Amino acid sequence: MALSIAKRQASEFIETDVVCVGAGIMSATLALLLSELDPNLKVTVVERLEAPALESTGPWNNAGTGHAGLCELNYSVEQADGSVDISKAIKINEQFQISRQLWSYLVEQGQLSDTRAFINSTPHMVFVHGDDHVNYLRARRDAMAGQPLLASMSYSEDAAQIGQWSPLLIEGRKGNEPIAASYDPTGTDVNFGALTRSYLNTVTERGGDVIYNFDVTDLKPSGDGGWLLRAAHTGGGHGIIIKAAKVFIGAGGYALNLLQKAGLPEAQGYGLFPISGQFLTTSKRAIVARHSQKVYGKASVGAPPMSVPHLDARIIDGEKYVLFGPFAGSSPKFLKDGSLLDLPLSLRPHNILPMLEVAKDNLPLVKYLASQILLPPSAQEASLREFYPDADLADWKLLAAGQRAQIIKKDENGHGTLQFGTETIVGGGGSIAGLLGASPGASTAVPIMLGLLEKIFAERIDGWRDQLLKIVPTWGKSLNDDVALARATMTHTAEVLGITPPVK
Ligand SMILES: Cc1cc2nc3c(=O)[nH]c(=O)nc-3n(C[C@H](O)[C@H](O)[C@H](O)COP(=O)(O)OP(=O)(O)OC[C@H]3O[C@@H](n4cnc5c(N)ncnc54)[C@H](O)[C@@H]3O)c2cc1C
Repeated sequence: MALSIAKRQASEFIETDVVCVGAGIMSATLALLLSELDPNLKVTVVERLEAPALESTGPWNNAGTGHAGLCELNYSVEQADGSVDISKAIKINEQFQISRQLWSYLVEQGQLSDTRAFINSTPHMVFVHGDDHVNYLRARRDAMAGQPLLASMSYSEDAAQIGQWSPLLIEGRKGNEPIAASYDPTGTDVNFGALTRSYLNTVTERGGDVIYNFDVTDLKPSGDGGWLLRAAHTGGGHGIIIKAAKVFIGAGGYALNLLQKAGLPEAQGYGLFPISGQFLTTSKRAIVARHSQKVYGKASVGAPPMSVPHLDARIIDGEKYVLFGPFAGSSPKFLKDGSLLDLPLSLRPHNILPMLEVAKDNLPLVKYLASQILLPPSAQEASLREFYPDADLADWKLLAAGQRAQIIKKDENGHGTLQFGTETIVGGGGSIAGLLGASPGASTAVPIMLGLLEKIFAERIDGWRDQLLKIVPTWGKSLNDDVALARATMTHTAEVLGITPPVK
């Protein structure tokens, strides 16, 4: 387990092979993979808070969707001719199958025992109304038909069928506006906080070190190809200095600041656009007993793609909840436990212009975020009732979601653009890397970290390949191009994880 603070205060200098800054799902995944690939590597994780997964990775701070492109419409992009490009949905699904393979391997090895604590079958649905949105969903269905990874999906424009899939969507619905839904029973709800805790337990059992309540404040090259990190004790005790051959900055919204402190030219020109969020949540029996799906819809104009509200069945620490949201908002913090000065202090001569350009080019987004902050409870209820017509706000309470820090970077013409994905920045000849951005996030931590290993351990990756293929047998293959392999992989991982297999 983590070393006690008292012991830490006494030891001011730590030498390690790899240091991961932050104890969220990204650092934990990397630390776990390294402990699998080379148990002799000394891995140290440093976290500024008192426990793992208290920021975006915590189950109440994210929506827990096992992102697989089954319900998130921002991955199925409408084209000018009315057709739908589903290549992003397939890519996300491919990535999620990699995550499922790591989890299955860990279960088979006895390292993850309680599968219900971190993954539960939760059908993924899309629900839309109005002619335009119905036409879009139909075109999406046409594009998805015949794709091996999406073969379990059904589609309907019939209220009775949709009501069978998800009764709360239909009960009390008035008028005869056209509606449509897609339904995929292989969808999942994932508790990324539980996974993170489990991974870090395994890492410490194998000799790794997880240090809490230490805030990494500075990083400098050590002169021998590695790095020196300075970390301050958040309770005011002695600081520590960590010498490491390799550094991974998995500090969420604070990663960019640390990459800039490390003086990486690769981090120049980047800025962050923070987006806060709120969820409505209920544990009322009459509701949670009747809603077991994740239901996504279509974004309003200007809405950031990952902030389209959805009605989500959740299972957190064995209890059932229904979450609705997130309602996006605006806050200058880069972490939930961050500072109001985060945004102003992130401004540098090299990123001011791209950030101003983004504000200018994204006026509908800025307007949308401003409107969301001012959203009265009646408007939140109206938004909830678009999914659940009989909803009563009195049954729900509002809670703050995690903070997202979206990437702002220059495009090929040097113009600032807002990005909604994640990006790894690697510098120092592969000795240091950091992760920026939030989506699709935790669901794809495994492929993101496997990709990172290829960059920062390029000299060792060939030697690790056999072990990597035991962990993720389809690593490097495209499942959607191989019907039999896609089916066999999904069926096997579903069996091991105790979740719904692909429809026959
Ligand atoms: C509202 C919302 C909904 C989301 N929904 C989903 C979803 O449904 N499915 C999905 O897959 N993903 C979702 N995501 C994205 C997902 O939560 C994140 O991508 C993921 O949790 C990021 O993990 P991380 O480890 O990079 O960062 P975090 O979980 O933010 O962890 C970073 C850690 O670094 C620590 N830290 C920061 N600075 C320092 C420092 N200087 N020294 C030491 N420690 C430091 C922080 O305290 C924190 O613990 C959602 C995110 C949000 C905000």
